[in-house]
Amino acid sequence: MSANPASKSTGRYSVFAIAREAMRLHSGWKRAWASPEPKKKYQVVIVGAGGHGLATAYYLGKNFGITDIAIIEKGWLGGGNTGRNTTIIRSNYLQDPSAAIYDKALKLYENLSQDLNYNVMFSPRGLLMLAQTEHEVRGYKRTVYANQLQNVSTEWVTPERIKKMLPIINIDGPRYPVLGGLYQERGGTARHDAVAWGYARACSAMGMHIIQNCEMTGIETESGRVRAVNTGKGRIECDKLALVVAGHSSVLAEKAGFRLPIESMALQALVSEPIKPCCDLVIMANTVHGYLSQSDKGEMVIGGGTDGFNNYSQRGSWQHVEETIRALIETFPMLSRLKMLRQWGGIVDMTGDRSPILSTTPVENIFVNCGWGTGGFKAIPGSGWAMAELVAKGQPGPLAADFGLNRFREGRFIDESVAAGVAH
Ligand SMILES: Cc1cc2nc3c(=O)[nH]c(=O)nc-3n(C[C@H](O)[C@H](O)[C@H](O)COP(=O)(O)OP(=O)(O)OC[C@H]3O[C@@H](n4cnc5c(N)ncnc54)[C@H](O)[C@@H]3O)c2cc1C
Repeated sequence: MSANPASKSTGRYSVFAIAREAMRLHSGWKRAWASPEPKKKYQVVIVGAGGHGLATAYYLGKNFGITDIAIIEKGWLGGGNTGRNTTIIRSNYLQDPSAAIYDKALKLYENLSQDLNYNVMFSPRGLLMLAQTEHEVRGYKRTVYANQLQNVSTEWVTPERIKKMLPIINIDGPRYPVLGGLYQERGGTARHDAVAWGYARACSAMGMHIIQNCEMTGIETESGRVRAVNTGKGRIECDKLALVVAGHSSVLAEKAGFRLPIESMALQALVSEPIKPCCDLVIMANTVHGYLSQSDKGEMVIGGGTDGFNNYSQRGSWQHVEETIRALIETFPMLSRLKMLRQWGGIVDMTGDRSPILSTTPVENIFVNCGWGTGGFKAIPGSGWAMAELVAKGQPGPLAADFGLNRFREGRFIDESVAAGVAH
C-alpha cells in the first residue's frame, strides 16, 4: 500500500499540483472522497464519521489491510463534535494509560499532514495550563513529575515567565492571581475540519465507503452476535460493528440492548472578532473554567464548561457567553473590549472518571469508542490507532487495555477528573 493512499484517486497534493491546476484554471481537481450508495454487506460497519470513526477506519486499512468498510454518518462527515471543538491538542495527562494514548495521538499528529498528504495545519505553538489556586499548584507539579516518568516532556513555569511568554495576561488578579503553570511545548492546535477531511480522503482512496445522510436506526443481533444495522438507506449486514458516535453513544447502545455509563450534555464555545496577533500560546484557566487561543484568522477562540444538565442540544446559549467571558476577564482584561462573533455547541459524552471507553461490549463483535467528553479532538489519531487494533483482533492492544467497560464494574477508574477538573 502506498504511504499516501489518497493520492491514488484524487492525485497527490503538492506544490506542483497547485502550479499545474493554476495553469488550467483549477479545472482538474478531483473530489476528495466518493459518495457511494451502500452495499448489502461489509466486513466492518463504523457508525459515526467524526474524527474517531474515520481514524478507526483509516488505521484498519493502513495497519491491518481491512478495507471492506462502510462509515455511516447521519449528517455530514465531521459535522459533530469534530467540527465544533476548540482544537486544543496536548498529552500532559496524569494517569499512565491516558498519557500513553494521548501522547501516541500527539506523535501521530506531528506527522499527520505528511501521512495523509493533507494539510491538517498542526500548530505546536505550546500549551499552558494556569495554576490559580494552591490546589492547582500542587496538582500540576504532581503532573509534571508524573509526565517525567511517562517520558512526556512538560515543565512547571513561574508567573514571571508566563508574563514574558504572554504579555496580554494579568498575573496579579485580586481573586485568582496566576501562581504558575503547567507548560507543554509540544502542545498546540490543528484545523479540526481538515483532520476529518484528510482521514476521509485517505479512507475513500482505500476503497472504503463513506455514506453521509444515513442514520443508523436499529441493530440486528443473532445468538448474541451482531448481524446487521438498519439505516435510512436500508439494511446493511456486517461481521463487525463499531459505534463511534460521541454524545449519541448511549442511544445507540440501547438499540443493541446494553447500557453505557455515559451522560450527554452540551459543551459550548465562541469566537471573537478577528484582531492582530496577540496570543501565540494555547491557554487553559481551569479554576475559572475558560480556555483560549488565537486562530490563524485572528479570532480569539474561547471555550468554557459543559451545561449543568444533561441534554442533546447542539446550540449555544447567551448566558454561557457571559459566564465564560466573565470568568476570563480578570486574567485577560483585553477580552472586555472584544465583540463576540459566533457561538455554538456540541453534544459531549461524559464518563464518571473523565476517561474514554474503547471496549468490547456484551454483544459479540460490537465495539464502542466513546466517552472522550470535552477532550477527544486531541486523541483522534491515537484513538483510531487503538480502536483499529481492537476491532481487527477482537481484543484491545496495550493502548486500549485499561479503557474497557469492565473498569466501571471493577472500580478501576482512570481518574483524570481529579487531575484537571476539565479535559479539553
Ligand atoms: C465546544 C467544544 C469544544 C471542544 N474543545 C476541545 C478541545 O479543545 N480539544 C479536544 O481535544 N477536544 C475538544 N472537544 C471534544 C472533541 O470535539 C470530541 O471529543 C471529539 O471531536 C469527538 O469526536 P468523535 O468522532 O467521537 O465524535 P463526533 O465528531 O461527534 O462524531 C460522531 C458522529 O456520529 C454521528 N452519529 C450520531 N448518531 C448517529 C446515528 N444514529 N447514525 C449515524 N451517525 C450518527 C454524528 O452525526 C457525528 O457526526 C470539544 C467539544 C466541543 C463540543
